[in-house]
Amino acid sequence: FIRFDEISKRFGDNVVLDDLSFSVGEGQRVTLIGPSGSGKTTILRMLMTLTRPDSGTIAVGGEYLFHEQRDGGLVPASEAHVRRVRGRITMVFQQYNLFPNMRVLRNVTEAPIHVLGRSREQAEQRGRELLDMVGLGEKLDSYPSQLSGGQQQRVAIARALAMDPDVLLLDEITSALDPELAAEVLDVLRDVARTSDITMLVVTHAMKFARDVSDKVLMFDGGKIIEAKAPAELFESPEHERTRSFLRSVI
Ligand code: ATP
Repeated sequence: FIRFDEISKRFGDNVVLDDLSFSVGEGQRVTLIGPSGSGKTTILRMLMTLTRPDSGTIAVGGEYLFHEQRDGGLVPASEAHVRRVRGRITMVFQQYNLFPNMRVLRNVTEAPIHVLGRSREQAEQRGRELLDMVGLGEKLDSYPSQLSGGQQQRVAIARALAMDPDVLLLDEITSALDPELAAEVLDVLRDVARTSDITMLVVTHAMKFARDVSDKVLMFDGGKIIEAKAPAELFESPEHERTRSFLRSVI
């Protein structure tokens, strides 16, 4: 469903992704792990078209986001096309990025109304359902600043789901939270994983969560994926010393 083919990216002399290929099936949950700076966030940003590769091809649902031609030139797909593909993907960030001047419900309904063209009634009904699901049915009228970090992150998840995405990207969304609040957020995501068929790409250091929800874990190092396995296998019998030492450092 998502395909990266021979993707390379450097920032100056820093080769961040080195001829990288991988794919994610429709409805699969894939976790990206690896040391800081190994390019995990860059992968997600490419899917959001916030960062473009230097070379290679990226396709989602059989449609190109970036397409490299035989002569080596990189061709971004047309703007309208990219907008359509991008419309199926949403991302939740480490810093929740809620609209501070809008109440919780409005944070969740704003994009469905203005981007998807939903009616206010439709958007509010769905928004209430989603906020109930993330345990914030009582906080519809609060402002983000009146919520804990964990609650704000749960609003951000509801806001992402309100766009009915095919693909949900989660970038270290619990890294800024105390363990207890992080656990609440991860519980909500476990529910999302259990009750939906959204394709999920997750960058996280929460290894227990990775183990519980992922179908596949990709270990990044030095611009490459050095191991790609089902979580039980990767965590119990990592093949590479680099994976072993990384796992020792985070567990
Ligand atoms: P982390 O866990 O720290 O977020 P990561 O694996 O997600 O790490 P990336 O954020 O993808 O890593 O960054 C990979 C490398 O690319 C880092 O060395 C980073 O400094 C560099 N980098 C990312 N964006 C830019 C940019 N816009 N300009 C220059 N360098 C960048």
